[in-house]
Amino acid sequence: MSLPPLHQTLADLVAIESISGNEDAIADYVCGRLERAGVRFERDELHNVTAFLGPEKGKSLCLSGHMDTVPAASGWEQDPWKPTVADGVMTGLGVSDMKSGLALMLDVVDWELSRPVILAFSTNEEGGVEGQVDGVVNFLEGHRPDSALILEPTAVGEHIYISPGCQGNVAVRYTLEGRAAHSSRPERGDNALYKAAHLVAEVERLAAGLKPAPLHSGMEALPVMAVTMLSGGVRHNIIPDRADVTVNRRVSPTEDMDEVVAGLKELGPGSTAEYRGPYLLPADDPFYRTVMAASDKVLGYADPFFFRGWVDSSLFADAGIPAVTFGPGTQGVGHGPGESCILANLDRCRDVLKELLS
Ligand SMILES: [Zn+2]
Repeated sequence: MSLPPLHQTLADLVAIESISGNEDAIADYVCGRLERAGVRFERDELHNVTAFLGPEKGKSLCLSGHMDTVPAASGWEQDPWKPTVADGVMTGLGVSDMKSGLALMLDVVDWELSRPVILAFSTNEEGGVEGQVDGVVNFLEGHRPDSALILEPTAVGEHIYISPGCQGNVAVRYTLEGRAAHSSRPERGDNALYKAAHLVAEVERLAAGLKPAPLHSGMEALPVMAVTMLSGGVRHNIIPDRADVTVNRRVSPTEDMDEVVAGLKELGPGSTAEYRGPYLLPADDPFYRTVMAASDKVLGYADPFFFRGWVDSSLFADAGIPAVTFGPGTQGVGHGPGESCILANLDRCRDVLKELLS
């Protein structure tokens, strides 16, 4: 098939298997493109690649994207690493999440730029390698751009949204202790699973009381909580002396993260298993306004959208760098069979980026 260069780059990227922990081949491809363009870049031992484009002086903008994908889910009806195109839609593993964003980042390499641009190609965002951090964490240790655009999927159909924030994610793992006894004499024991059941019922009650929180620009946060893991008991005839319950809570930027955690800890003896804060740029944040204005000028609309899940841009926000998520991939199709991307959205995003960068 003959494709325009930007779409061909996407097809090339999809054809390179890059499951977390196996990013060296895709990093080779990225570095090859950077070398041919004569661009200055760094590559670390984990294959995170950082490139420096444009003039030296001026406010720098980081374009950020992860090179890794999840493994192929079951249910693929084609080879996930042999991209196909039909009716303007490309199908393949990682095509939306987020090789479409990477293709755009590689396109920028050949542009005339009016400001310094840093390209951050990162590894292990999908978290497949235990004990290895998200590549963005490494990037932020050595670099401090003035703002960041994360090219994760924000399209719904042909409409591309702009996300100035995301909800936080906290999980607490409770360990409920009891006393073991023969199950013919339960009164001699102390059943840890009953304690777990009370905790589960309490979480269900609290979850029902959580309310949507209005945010600026007509957006809404939807804090939720749920029991996500439960285990206990060793045999049918022993009163269990231990039960483990994990509760996951998604946190609105209007809430105080520490207060939320303190509230969770009151439910029982537990320790925090996950702690990632929410963030929301203010409505008048200059970088957010600039992205909105560019979308409005090029696409004729600028529609904000608030992520219910936690996204990478939050790491930039934590480092005090205004970060916006805006990318050509389709929301919600990643990690499943038949992942696809509308190719016209790549062109739309490129036009908005050109407005931002040139
Ligand atoms: Zn992603």
